[in-house]
Amino acid sequence: MKRISGLLLGGAISLLVACGGPAPEPAPTPAAAPKPAPPATYSMEDFKSVRKLDAHVHMNVVGPAFLEQAREDGFELMTINVDYPDFPKLADQRAAALTQLHADPARVHWATTFSMQGFGKPGWADKVNATLAADAQQGAKAVKVWKNVGMKERFGGKLVMLDDPRISPVADKVQSLGLTLIGHLGEPQNCWLPLDQMTTDNDREYFKEHPQYHMYLHPEMPSYEDQIKARDNFVAAHPGLRFVGAHLGSLEYDVDRIAAFLDRFPNANVDMAARMSQVQYQSVRDREKVRNFFIKYQDRLLYGTDLTLNPDAASTEQEAEFKREAHDVWTRDWRYLATAESQHVEVIKADVPGLALPREVIDRIYYRNSARAFSLN
Ligand SMILES: [Zn+2]
Repeated sequence: MKRISGLLLGGAISLLVACGGPAPEPAPTPAAAPKPAPPATYSMEDFKSVRKLDAHVHMNVVGPAFLEQAREDGFELMTINVDYPDFPKLADQRAAALTQLHADPARVHWATTFSMQGFGKPGWADKVNATLAADAQQGAKAVKVWKNVGMKERFGGKLVMLDDPRISPVADKVQSLGLTLIGHLGEPQNCWLPLDQMTTDNDREYFKEHPQYHMYLHPEMPSYEDQIKARDNFVAAHPGLRFVGAHLGSLEYDVDRIAAFLDRFPNANVDMAARMSQVQYQSVRDREKVRNFFIKYQDRLLYGTDLTLNPDAASTEQEAEFKREAHDVWTRDWRYLATAESQHVEVIKADVPGLALPREVIDRIYYRNSARAFSLN
């Protein structure tokens, strides 16, 4: 008893009182009731105020519509340039990204990219690397490599895969500049299936409109596993490079495969852009499994959407429509990830209960993981 501190002694005394006879009636103390602990999960009311970052958007315009909606809904944005023929020319994408970055440097972040034009010829990597260094000077935080590597670009008649050693000097430069490589390699597994066997309508629509990328129609092209293997070889060969696998690393159809990828590559994260319906497809079949995946890998998953605003949608009505769509996508995803509320998801024709992820997990996947993956602070 000698070693009892003052604080503990207080406890001992009250214990003595309690044991020493009938305790006096406690005075009613409604005002002193302890404050209820904050709920373990967020609600729809918390959507706007929680700090959030959409790690995968394409602001291909100079106008303010996208930024206005991001401000309204409390989002920061990672706008990504891509060497995609459906998008404006790379120079125009870069100019649009810089305009957005300068308009709100605290809210807009930029991922630049590079062209494969001239690949295999002497000086290609030097030229690309000089451009990337200049972009880093101008504020770029990441570099995107797209599925044209592996699916379209050829040298000497052969497809160029990501693990081609001639791409390595560019990866080394990205790393030495302190940037992150965002890789969209391959496609969802649905891409290798006939349209009527695909699991989601969004994939069905995309591949119907883009038959050149629908690999089921091109059996002479590399298989799904060939694409994944080339990407994995590349990530394994650059263990010091921060890598973000866009679109759940093209492993969207099975959370176990995403888990295995993240286990194998500690320098890798994945973003969820344009693949939420694939996750929902799995969670309507086994909600606990998907929920446990999010909790276990809460440090490695980045929230993202693939929301895109192109200059051909620059009329006032189209901008207003885009804002409604962005708000709709963002609030639907929040409902699914942060709350237990159920909602109908038309592209998988199912009612999908929310995952109700703990607040701490939401804070990570919506902001902290991106801040770390892209060295934003
Ligand atoms: Zn994208």
